[in-house]
Amino acid sequence: MLVFCGSSSGHDPIFRRTAEDLGRAIAAAGAGLVYGGGDVGLMGAVASATMEAGGEVTGVITEQLQALELAHGAITTLEVAPDMHSRKARMAELADGVVVLPGGFGTYDETFEMLTWNQLGIVSTPLTFLDVAGFYGPLFEFIDGAVRAGFMKPDHGALAHRSTSATDAVAQALAVAAAFTPKWVG
Ligand code: AMP
Repeated sequence: MLVFCGSSSGHDPIFRRTAEDLGRAIAAAGAGLVYGGGDVGLMGAVASATMEAGGEVTGVITEQLQALELAHGAITTLEVAPDMHSRKARMAELADGVVVLPGGFGTYDETFEMLTWNQLGIVSTPLTFLDVAGFYGPLFEFIDGAVRAGFMKPDHGALAHRSTSATDAVAQALAVAAAFTPKWVG
């Protein structure tokens, strides 16, 4: 299970607690965690919680970030990618499903790339936002607005699933992906 999340923890302790819940839920599902390999913010929290609960963790980090000594030192496998683009491609290759926790631009970049690749049929990977404390509410309003304005088909807007607990998020990310709706035809 691929997790995208902040390299910060956010101000409210509920963000970190939910990241830890998610790590435990991933381990309990026997799914294994794939993530960006860092030991900072929610990234470190989800990875450490998965490891502590007996799960397997694969981190995919870049040479640059590893050199900054921000890599997690206690995970099952740490892969080093030459740059950010190869890193995202490798994480996508390893992903059977994606859970998105709160985060900043890095998290959005990874998430929207995955949604775009699903929309184009390049991958077929279920993705759910674990909506801690309503953090992603405005984003779902924005996506609904984009569908209403005619910039997105309803089926494509619906690729962004929403979950409200760690166990629900794991179940949604492990579900069978929706049938492919072509972007350009019809
Ligand atoms: P953000 O949501 O802006 O905090 O960015 C999260 C993303 O930042 C991660 O997915 C990585 O691309 C990058 N990042 C920042 N610090 C680290 C780190 N120590 N290890 C790995 N990735 C990091």
